[in-house]
Amino acid sequence: MLSTMQDVPLTVTRILEHGTVVHGRSRVTTWTGDGEPHRRSFREVGLRAVRLANALRDGLGVSEGDRVATLMWNNAEHMEAYLAIPSMGSVLHTLNLRLPADQLVWIVNHAADRVVLVNGSLLPLLAPLLPRMEPLEHIVVVGPGDRGLLAGCRPAVHDYEELLAGRPATYPWPELDERSAAAMCYTSGTTGDPKGVVYSHRSVYLHSMQVGSAESMGLTDHDTSLPVVPMFHVNAWGLPHAAFMSGVNLLMPDRFLQPAPLAEMIESERPTHAAAVPTIWQGLLAELTAKPRDVSSLKRVTIGGSACPPALMKAFDEQLGVQLCHAWGMTETSPLGTVALPPAGVDGEEEWAYRITQGRFPASVEARLIGPDGAVMPWDSESAGELEVRGPWIAGAYYGGAGAEPLRPEDKFSPDGWLRTGDVGVISPDGYLTLTDRAKDVIKSGGEWISSVELENELMAHPDVAEAAVVAVPDERWGERPLATVVLVEGSTTGYAELRDFLATRIARWQVPERWAIIPTVPKTSVGKFDKKVIRKSYADGELDVTKL
Ligand code: ADP
Repeated sequence: MLSTMQDVPLTVTRILEHGTVVHGRSRVTTWTGDGEPHRRSFREVGLRAVRLANALRDGLGVSEGDRVATLMWNNAEHMEAYLAIPSMGSVLHTLNLRLPADQLVWIVNHAADRVVLVNGSLLPLLAPLLPRMEPLEHIVVVGPGDRGLLAGCRPAVHDYEELLAGRPATYPWPELDERSAAAMCYTSGTTGDPKGVVYSHRSVYLHSMQVGSAESMGLTDHDTSLPVVPMFHVNAWGLPHAAFMSGVNLLMPDRFLQPAPLAEMIESERPTHAAAVPTIWQGLLAELTAKPRDVSSLKRVTIGGSACPPALMKAFDEQLGVQLCHAWGMTETSPLGTVALPPAGVDGEEEWAYRITQGRFPASVEARLIGPDGAVMPWDSESAGELEVRGPWIAGAYYGGAGAEPLRPEDKFSPDGWLRTGDVGVISPDGYLTLTDRAKDVIKSGGEWISSVELENELMAHPDVAEAAVVAVPDERWGERPLATVVLVEGSTTGYAELRDFLATRIARWQVPERWAIIPTVPKTSVGKFDKKVIRKSYADGELDVTKL
């Protein structure tokens, strides 16, 4: 029997219209780095999004299904693109400006982007690549920058403000199928070519509801959120659309992502929420220790993208009174997967034990663990397996290219359609996920698994250790053994033996690494995660000064 309820499509258009009117007074504030930040109300942002849609259609001939790329920082204009492009039925394609040049070129060609909106400050990055970006017909420059860099380029060049000027303040929004493409984002392509994830209107809408809910980030129009996580990678964790839906004020850092300007903008604009990867919080902690600022406005901070070292969480708790809330997700999961809010009725050490997990799944994300022999593992906090998920905002395939079939590589999707995350972990009986490793980073030592993440966390708990990355290296006797690479805090003279003895008090003895190297800094990927393949390669090439204890 069918229900008697209306079947209304869930679309970004609805988010745009609702936010513009009902939350018209909320604001997007963009940091400018020199004096007064730039402020725009949701009403203005919404109206400018309408003008942008008109400009793209009438000025540049963009039609439904066309891909419109952005190469932009987090700012009000990027927000306008986030709303306008999907609402007109086109596809918002955010380009990750930290990717290697060749990958950026590959991605633009693969997605067949017709238009790119680019911040003027990023023209030095884009201009040299243009001859190889064949599908591009139009470049729209947003904000100040050296436009001379585009002299003689093939695509037509436009100025964002000039393009919007005088455009109508209404747009005949199309009736969209909620399953149609709203946005796309390519994974960083650490192995092989990057893969395109295409989000639907429905997935964006449902994901936005979840992001805002009390079970996740818990944001309302009383809040101001600072998304340090970039809008050019994984949609700034869904915050832009979620914020517009619920009237959450946004403080956009633009290109000012270094610890000092972040500390300054938190002190002066007083956000109640922020979201960023652990390396950002690590940098901010050092900055605030050296030069204290008032960051007491922050009520909740979402941290994820890679494992948050418990020592970092403790430091924020104890030194700054700011609660870091751990979350897990990936490009393929929109990205919100889990959030580590402890259950009601726990406190003290028990509460802490929940907070350091990756968190629990919302109802819309189903999870299962697949053990080494392919069996589904129980949720008993002990049985480890690869995490597989499914749900309305989880990818079921990758973009195959215009007109091509979607791609469902076997290592990424199970035969029954679940996403294979490549993350290994355990789940507690009450549904909290603890990741122990990436499937490819786990250290397989003599038939046992050693978690590289656990070793890193324990090492980083030592007061003289600024950062630590542990990788598997080949070992004649055990197959693989851990190699610990350590960045010491400035001026420290701690030796390997002391670090080894410290570890031995905290983890099983057989897991303690024999191989050690002090390094100046841990190499990072384009999105700020530890780049372990670079460490593995330096080791294989004999470039690391390794001490064996
Ligand atoms: P990529 O870096 O491949 O582009 P994403 O940026 O989508 O991919 O990153 C997703 C991956 O980041 C996850 O599969 C997981 O390994 C890691 N990750 C994300 N959040 C956490 C977390 N809270 N703890 C540990 N790992 C995390």
